[in-house]
Amino acid sequence: MSTDKPVRHRAPVLPLHKDGSECKHRQKPVDPECPGRTGYSTTCSAGDFTLTNGIRAYVEEQARHHVHTNDPKKVTR
Ligand SMILES: [Zn+2]
Ligand SMILES: [Zn+2]
Repeated sequence: MSTDKPVRHRAPVLPLHKDGSECKHRQKPVDPECPGRTGYSTTCSAGDFTLTNGIRAYVEEQARHHVHTNDPKKVTR
């Protein structure tokens, strides 16, 4: 039997610490426990896309672009 249900592509952007762990600290004001954010990372839930970069806007744009171009429900035209 076929299991070709559409794959959901979701790529949340997560802030990272220098050691690569996810930052969940408050930033306004900055939590004193936070060692500092050094980058941002996104991984698609479908497992076909991952990106890490120091510029948040870049990661967000690429994540949005990936989801937009891969999610069948969002294909325009
Ligand atoms: Zn994907
Ligand atoms: Zn942190």
